[in-house]
Amino acid sequence: MPARSRRRGSSLPDDCLFCALAREGDHVARTEGFVAIRDINPQAETHLLVLPVRHVDTFRDVSAFSPQEAKQMLDFVAETARGAGLADYRVVVNVGADGGQTVFHLHWHVLGGKISGMPQ
Ligand code: AMP
Ligand code: ZN
Repeated sequence: MPARSRRRGSSLPDDCLFCALAREGDHVARTEGFVAIRDINPQAETHLLVLPVRHVDTFRDVSAFSPQEAKQMLDFVAETARGAGLADYRVVVNVGADGGQTVFHLHWHVLGGKISGMPQ
């Protein structure tokens, strides 16, 4: 299947914000194929985003990752949290517009410390 047909109207990698940030943003952490950045509008004391360097629209397309890449991605989510000094935290993925997704390049939210809207 051609890559374009999978994108269904969302931004193409050429003008995808997170593709650009993955290539040349300010990274909190990185591993092969994945980076972590700080969320520009944090919803928690620590709010990081983990993203694949290559463009994948949403978590719906998670099968685009090989088993090894998928494990690498999950390990890196945990590593990023640990590296930020978090023992307890939330990992959130918003999937699709009705699931709260606003940027159509797959990303994992890592939220730690006091989180907006969470009872403490
Ligand atoms: P979502 O709503 O799950 O798609 O999350 C998108 C997240 O990206 C939001 O939490 C935004 O605050 C964040 N965001 C948008 N633009 C930027 C940017 N330039 N740098 C870092 N985070 C961003
Ligand atoms: Zn992208």
